[in-house]
Amino acid sequence: MHIVVLIKQVPEIALIKVNEAANEVETPQGPGVVNPFDEYAVEEALRLKERIGGTVSVVTVGDSKAESALRECLALGVDNAYLINDDIFVGSDSQAIGRILAAAITKIGDVDMVIGGKQAVDSDSSQVPAAVAAHLDQPQVLFVKKFDSVENGAVVAHRTTEDGYDVVETALPAVFSVVKEINEPRLPSLKGKMAAKKKQITAWTGADIGIDASAVGTNSRSTTTKVAPPPPRPQGEFIEGDSPEAIVDALFQKLRDDQVI
Ligand SMILES: Cc1cc2nc3c(=O)[nH]c(=O)nc-3n(C[C@H](O)[C@H](O)[C@H](O)COP(=O)(O)OP(=O)(O)OC[C@H]3O[C@@H](n4cnc5c(N)ncnc54)[C@H](O)[C@@H]3O)c2cc1C
Repeated sequence: MHIVVLIKQVPEIALIKVNEAANEVETPQGPGVVNPFDEYAVEEALRLKERIGGTVSVVTVGDSKAESALRECLALGVDNAYLINDDIFVGSDSQAIGRILAAAITKIGDVDMVIGGKQAVDSDSSQVPAAVAAHLDQPQVLFVKKFDSVENGAVVAHRTTEDGYDVVETALPAVFSVVKEINEPRLPSLKGKMAAKKKQITAWTGADIGIDASAVGTNSRSTTTKVAPPPPRPQGEFIEGDSPEAIVDALFQKLRDDQVI
């Protein structure tokens, strides 16, 4: 079983800013971190390896700074790391990132499961795992909260929905994304951190994976027309009264007045 985990290096959440004037999510200087949702994907891949054996690799499309995110994963016990980096990738949209990742996975070869996070906390499109599946022409099972069974070339997974969850069975190879309910990620050991420093990271360019500039980078098919921060939350309101009953009555009256009930 070869599991490839898609990881993205993102800025720390507290440092993320929306620059409305420039129409972009600003990437602050300084070292980034592994996208928090991808930590759950790495953890799940490691648990599957512990359960059924195999190899876990991580792959990222990013610049040379993303090496530190890959080393964080190696410190947790991941076997191989791939950095896919090329100037022609700058400006890529989610579909282009999916195309690049799919080409890298094809070059890695004999991959049974691809697991990504539910979303990246900076760009937040939740599209990349689906795009990877489309470019690999493989089934996709997104927002998985539990892998029930992984055996005989098939997976039964519970995928989160608005109302509960679906139980989905798919043949492998397939692409998955996971939600944070799936596990509690481990922390790296000191020994793991030391070992990770010495591990080799495979670096590939577009040419190495057969990707030219025609459908990636500034030749991506989508354009961001507007980026804006979410509107501020309206102020809360305290409902006062002489007794709990009076407060409840006042609350219900307000809900009726506002046509909430
Ligand atoms: C027109 C346009 C131009 C853009 N230009 C730039 C730019 O110049 N520079 C820039 O940094 N960004 C740019 N972006 C944003 C960038 O392409 C997105 O960050 C990328 O498409 C991933 O989408 P997302 O962050 O929403 O990931 P999501 O789809 O929300 O991520 C879901 C999961 O996919 C995986 N994943 C996502 N991204 C990667 C990755 N890079 N490597 C490995 N796994 C990944 C992770 O597992 C992640 O949890 C641009 C986007 C658009 C639409």
